[in-house]
Amino acid sequence: MEIEKLKASVIGEIDARRNQLNKLSLKIHSNPELGFHEVKASDCLTQYLEENGFSVERGICELPTAFRASYGTRKPAIAILAEYDALPNLGHACGHNIIATSAIGAGVAAKLAIDQFGGNIQVIGTPAEELYGGKIMMADRGAFQDLDAAMIVHPGTSDIATTQALANQKLEIEFFGKAAHAAARPEEGINALEAMLQSFAAINSLRQHIRSTARIHGIITNGGEAANVVPAHSAGNFIVRAMDNEYLDELKEKVLSCFKGAATATGARLEYKWGDVRYAPMRNNPPLAQLFTKNMQSLGRQILLSDPDNAFGSTDMGNVSQLVPSIHPFVAIAEKDVLLHSPEFVVAAASETGTKGMLDAAKALAMTVVDLIASPETLNKVKEEFK
Ligand SMILES: [Zn+2]
Ligand SMILES: [Zn+2]
Repeated sequence: MEIEKLKASVIGEIDARRNQLNKLSLKIHSNPELGFHEVKASDCLTQYLEENGFSVERGICELPTAFRASYGTRKPAIAILAEYDALPNLGHACGHNIIATSAIGAGVAAKLAIDQFGGNIQVIGTPAEELYGGKIMMADRGAFQDLDAAMIVHPGTSDIATTQALANQKLEIEFFGKAAHAAARPEEGINALEAMLQSFAAINSLRQHIRSTARIHGIITNGGEAANVVPAHSAGNFIVRAMDNEYLDELKEKVLSCFKGAATATGARLEYKWGDVRYAPMRNNPPLAQLFTKNMQSLGRQILLSDPDNAFGSTDMGNVSQLVPSIHPFVAIAEKDVLLHSPEFVVAAASETGTKGMLDAAKALAMTVVDLIASPETLNKVKEEFK
């Protein structure tokens, strides 16, 4: 069958590029760059895509390290997304070097499908996943508007075709009280730290009565200056997460009430600010996830379609998935007990197993592009499900 032959060719194409892709992956890994500063990574990725026949626009959406590389001009347009930012202090502890190189490997191999059937394949470089949610800004600026499907593979500790990622929003809190000598004139003070501590206690009580999938967590960033002064100012950062946008809205009100109550109880004045960006929950496209699953299985991987135990915080891919049929599968590159965002994961992201995962992810992505480009019925199913 024509599709199977084509899939064999894209696999061959990626195997032939094994060393090039691995070299790029290790280069990004050994030069970790923080969100919006991924200059070297975006340079070497765009250069590779350009050398391989893609037309590249750099700095799209007014983000200097974002890019769009495109091959073929007609519809349908299928995008593979690349992340390449690292974490402060840790380096590539989320393995985004593997995301980036599996994306470009898949993009270059998928050209074979475009040459045979027409259509358009894009590799879209999406910076600052970790710290700022770059895709949320790019989504707001129309980057994903004309796509028929979007895919990205994240390294992890098991092979799973779907992702459970929560909606979330950040909350900045400040309490303003009144300083006084903590021993001589405590009755004159208004304790901003106590307001913060009471807020934590109220949130802890609230937590008993929220859905088990929701999360509320935070830190204190200012709790006073000296033990003998009643703290006149306290500050903290919080994140509220929920499975869907409706429940997030409900929970936001409840969390805010905890701070308002603490302000009333202590007499401190509350100031708060919700974060500008809101991460959307991941909306997995089932037919697309099934295609990816089959392709990973054909490579000998025991991939699960879903795993309720595989919680993943939040991802800015969630916002893309609200606009375009999307998947965000995981490819295993480390043992089950290794944690994302740990020094052990940094090691895994540059290991042999990491390379194998990157290549299999590239192959399965390219094979899924073949499925979508070669068969209008298959793509229709994906789009129908999205409606
Ligand atoms: Zn991460
Ligand atoms: Zn990540």
